[in-house]
Amino acid sequence: MARRLVLRGTLIVLRRRCGKPTCWCARGGVHETPALAYKVAGVTKILTLRPHDIPTVRAAHARYQRVLRGLERQVQTSVATLRERRAREKTAGRGRRR
Ligand SMILES: [Zn+2]
Repeated sequence: MARRLVLRGTLIVLRRRCGKPTCWCARGGVHETPALAYKVAGVTKILTLRPHDIPTVRAAHARYQRVLRGLERQVQTSVATLRERRAREKTAGRGRRR
């Protein structure tokens, strides 16, 4: 795959009967289709997959988690930086008052 995919969501298996009276599923079975359930603006969407897509989707999901963890680390570092800056300014202010 030329482009590296990044995906979030949950791998699920859709189980359904197709409704054709002559199909084997009419006798009690279900069709199983792998799918990715993901949310866009709070709305869950389903992307059905071919079995051979699953390793790609898993890798893309792992990539998403990695990027997210990196981003979260940056957020934590940024919060810590602002906190330290604020603490320094407070100390400096107290120093002036003394
Ligand atoms: Zn069927």
